[in-house]
Amino acid sequence: MTTTSQSITLTMNIAEVPGVGGKIAPEFRKLGIRCVADLLLHMPMRYEHEHEEQTIAKAGETVSPNHGAEANIAVRGEIATCRPGFSKRQPYEATLQDETGTMQLLWFNAPWMRGKLHPGDTIRVWGLAKRHGDYLQMINPKFAPYEPEEDGEQRSERFTPIYPASENVTSTMIDKALEGVLEPAIALIDDHLSDTYRTELALPKLADAYRMVHRPSDPDDHRGGRRRLAFDELLLLQLGVMMKRHHRREYLKAVPLKLNDAIDKHICARFPFDLTDSQREVIDEIAADLESERPMNRLLQGDVGSGKTVVALYAMLMAAASKHQAALMAPTELLAEQHFTSITTMLEGSNVVIELLTGSLKKSERDAILARLESGEIDILIGTHALLTESVSFNSLAVTVTDEQHRFGVYQRATLREKTSEPNSSPHMLVMTATPIPRTLSLTVFGDLDISTIRTMPPGRQPIITKYVARSQSDDVYGYVRSRLDAGEQAYIVVPVIDESESGLKDVRSHFTWLENGHFQGKRIAAVHGRLKRNEREAIMYRFRRGEIHALIATTVIEVGVDVPNASIMVIENADRFGLAQLHQLRGRVGRGERKSLCVLIADPATDDGRQRIEAIVAIDDGFEIAEKDLELRGPGELFGTRQSGIAPFRVASLPGDIQLLRLARREAKKWINANPTLSGEADALLRKRLLKAHGKALGLGDVG
Ligand code: ADP
Ligand code: MG
Repeated sequence: MTTTSQSITLTMNIAEVPGVGGKIAPEFRKLGIRCVADLLLHMPMRYEHEHEEQTIAKAGETVSPNHGAEANIAVRGEIATCRPGFSKRQPYEATLQDETGTMQLLWFNAPWMRGKLHPGDTIRVWGLAKRHGDYLQMINPKFAPYEPEEDGEQRSERFTPIYPASENVTSTMIDKALEGVLEPAIALIDDHLSDTYRTELALPKLADAYRMVHRPSDPDDHRGGRRRLAFDELLLLQLGVMMKRHHRREYLKAVPLKLNDAIDKHICARFPFDLTDSQREVIDEIAADLESERPMNRLLQGDVGSGKTVVALYAMLMAAASKHQAALMAPTELLAEQHFTSITTMLEGSNVVIELLTGSLKKSERDAILARLESGEIDILIGTHALLTESVSFNSLAVTVTDEQHRFGVYQRATLREKTSEPNSSPHMLVMTATPIPRTLSLTVFGDLDISTIRTMPPGRQPIITKYVARSQSDDVYGYVRSRLDAGEQAYIVVPVIDESESGLKDVRSHFTWLENGHFQGKRIAAVHGRLKRNEREAIMYRFRRGEIHALIATTVIEVGVDVPNASIMVIENADRFGLAQLHQLRGRVGRGERKSLCVLIADPATDDGRQRIEAIVAIDDGFEIAEKDLELRGPGELFGTRQSGIAPFRVASLPGDIQLLRLARREAKKWINANPTLSGEADALLRKRLLKAHGKALGLGDVG
């Protein structure tokens, strides 16, 4: 080893860490470990309790024959005999002996054991010991060659951290890499929390926390360390979110919009139905925001089909009534087109000017729209991401609506905000989502949003029946679907991919052919996917809506927002391949009319995860519960909303498990920001620096203070 502990830094490349080397470094990088700091943040998943070594005789006493007991023990000894199993069923067998006795070791289903042990080897084994007849036995024990400690003493109790590893980088390799850098590295870590503050919250020093996590001295040690590291993550995010919120509320101004009874009546007259109480409630919340010159930053959540569109339209019409502009941004062209069509229908005969801007417009068409937008002639602009390009500039943008927010990140929201002409001004922003933010998360990433929720469905909705069947039953399923098509209903058949591939997943093309020549013979069916040209897709959707097409074979392009009330049947192929929230979205395409709707999931799930998602979607129909379940199943690694939002995922904290800690962090962050909204004090300098480094870019904190 040439690296001395003095030369270790937190930013030192993983390739230079003693014992890692350039060859294996890329494999470490794949695990997210690029430098020493990453190594410190690579949290153990669990700890293996290595018991103190005992003699075999002593172990025999522990595992008492009277109790038929078993116990976790560790023993060191010499291999006396070993015998590979002769057939698959027979275990690999060895006897271990020390000065005090012998013990039998058995490994079942372990072809890899062949040649691993030899008589005369001294090994350490640990695991669950049992008594079998009159001898002691360990089944599938862990073992390692015995390496005497320098002082020749037996090893004492140790909690070995087990790290998330990969095929090429084992937990032990990570452990070894850490061993060389841990102490010198943590000696370099300054704490951004003061001693007094830490004492108050019973948090260890930052440097100690790393040691406690990687080298715990007792089972509770690592919990304390982890708590500190998780708290820091949550605190930084909360501080960031609140700093941003504070800035927006104090320094940014929006146009206050007018509302009175006449305007309200005028707007509501445009809707082809009476608003539900729930819609009315959220509209009141939104309208109150819009009347203020504090920019609205509100999340509107409501399950699929709960009627968010008219709420958005209400807000946009308030802008138009005050002679300002509004923009509605949808995640796909299909959805933008649909919003455009339904809103145009509702506004027919009024003098509100509405246009659709998507990526597939000709340049001349686009230029014409942009000119009319800039002159203020257009009141409402609907579009996709295309609304975000620089050439789009409004005359007086007062309200923006972003539909299905889970598809967008905060970056995009920030760009939309810059579409107002005045500096320090912001449009009122409404973000709609059908995938409700789990309550636990609404406090984190979305902590800067006020939330309105539509809790009830429009009247007359029938519950959707969800069924799960194995692939072997597909013929029955399609036979039944056919009978309902014959009765005048319409269906969506959802498959995961467009083209046939080696994955063996159902694809649009072959499934279309199969149905066309089989169960759906004589029915009008069409294929819809993301590679169709806009006008082709539009034509198909138009005909589907009019009932001229009976069934659509589609990818998840229909996932979001598509609204055809007569479509009452959905079949989802390879259902285990879709996410839980996604399945719920898809299912939401049916159950929109007066008919009893059916959603059939066809799958032979290959993984536990897939099976659990299917079980969940069958059992749960409430969108909020689905969202919580989704969070639970996905676990901390893939936090909903954080990845999409561009905010770095947590490395230590995990939700909903750390909800208590999150509340604490939130409370603390509030205190901090109330006392000093930009954390400009000298005592907070390090905290502020780390905050900006962690979230400055994603939260757009550059302009704050
Ligand atoms: P989502 O919240 O999923 O965007 P939509 O706004 O698309 O839901 O509304 C779903 C369907 O419910 C549409 O066909 C819409 O016209 C209808 N709808 C919305 N509000 C009402 C209401 N108050 N009464 C009756 N139908 C409504
Ligand atoms: Mg919608």
